[in-house]
Amino acid sequence: MDFRKAKFLISAPDIAHLNQYLPGDAGVEIAFAGRSNAGKSSALNMLTDQKGLARTSKTPGRTQLINVFELDEHRRLVDLPGYGFAQVPLALKKKWQHALGEYLQERQCLAGVVVLMDIRHPLKDLDMQMISWAVESEIPVLALLTKADKMKQSERMKMINEVRKHLGDYDDRVKVEPFSSLKGLGKPKVLSILNEWCQP
Ligand code: GDP
Repeated sequence: MDFRKAKFLISAPDIAHLNQYLPGDAGVEIAFAGRSNAGKSSALNMLTDQKGLARTSKTPGRTQLINVFELDEHRRLVDLPGYGFAQVPLALKKKWQHALGEYLQERQCLAGVVVLMDIRHPLKDLDMQMISWAVESEIPVLALLTKADKMKQSERMKMINEVRKHLGDYDDRVKVEPFSSLKGLGKPKVLSILNEWCQP
């Protein structure tokens, strides 16, 4: 699969609209989820070799949408709204969380979920919620530890092992890999996992 071919298709405020535009029983989707500022836009841009595909450093807390990028006629990448931004009113946070849960639990064409977490502070409650929603729906998860360039190799390995241990109960349903959009670290591994998920 050539991920450089990704191009913006549509935005949807929730799964009902998404289902209306793109019925869930059609094709294959790979979703990207993460706390706001985890490095999701940078990772999407890096993986598709397109600097401006997903906007980086958006003002957190603005109205958020599910953004869909088309890879080919049958395959799509889905950029889910970033969660966990402290200054968003509780009611709005709940609404987003609901939309994320709905997507992860109900979207039929979902083939895999990448949960992006800053390697310096991974596995927050909402990250665990995303991972368990996906696992309960039997969707494979890639827990991507972003901004890995911010840690020395020895610290990085220690953190990866800790996260793997913490998620050990999920066995091979959750893979854990380091990533750096800045340095390109982890890109071949991630692309190979995404490719696997793209197979029918
Ligand atoms: P998003 O809110 O999850 O989409 O996060 P962004 O992609 O906008 O990134 C948030 C901030 O982290 C920006 O200032 C990025 O430049 C920075 N950032 C993202 N990825 C990396 C990385 O791999 N290494 C470093 N050092 N900074 C990164």
